[in-house]
Amino acid sequence: MSCAFDFAHYRELLEAARAGGYRFASFEATPRAGDLLLRHDVDLSLEAALAMAELEAELEAPATYFLMTRSEFYNLDAPSGADAIERLRRLGHRVGLHAVYPEVAPDSRFDPVLAWHNPDPEYMTAPLEGFVNPMQPGFFDEEHYRSDSNQRWRYGCPHEALARGDFEWLQLLTHPEIWAYSGETMRETMLAMLQAERELRVEQLEADRIDLS
Ligand SMILES: [Zn+2]
Ligand SMILES: [Zn+2]
Repeated sequence: MSCAFDFAHYRELLEAARAGGYRFASFEATPRAGDLLLRHDVDLSLEAALAMAELEAELEAPATYFLMTRSEFYNLDAPSGADAIERLRRLGHRVGLHAVYPEVAPDSRFDPVLAWHNPDPEYMTAPLEGFVNPMQPGFFDEEHYRSDSNQRWRYGCPHEALARGDFEWLQLLTHPEIWAYSGETMRETMLAMLQAERELRVEQLEADRIDLS
């Protein structure tokens, strides 16, 4: 197995988890033995999130998508943003808030779960009023957490450990854009994403009746 950051291997990761006996759980309750909490921080691309969401739905692997209301890269208030939330929910996923510290505004579009974007250690694990913070005690500790940050697994790709059932339970944080676009490094992956977005932008211009002839 190549352990590439692509959807073929993401599928293998989920299949490994199933083989290891894990059940897909949400952040609604404190994890129990055998739980796998699929968490996605959507930093850059709703298109990538939706592609991952479709794959998970096909594999009956519900996840929690954390979306930003103040992203530089996408707009939840645009028609495409509202559609994305609706599609994520229709596919059976949960939707939480990916917020920039310290802003917390009540918003009925989200479940009461809040993950900070690029948190500093001082507040990263602090419990919040009215929300579950996925990094708070009970949901997070080094032993029960793996992340694909910047296209690098700190302890290697977890697919083998999942297949063996090594983790008592696990919170697996992945960023959809890393898997949806191809590249050997984060830089290459980001350039592939920008290329795809350029094409999407051209379509959006045409849909907005801009004359590109
Ligand atoms: Zn792997
Ligand atoms: Zn983030």
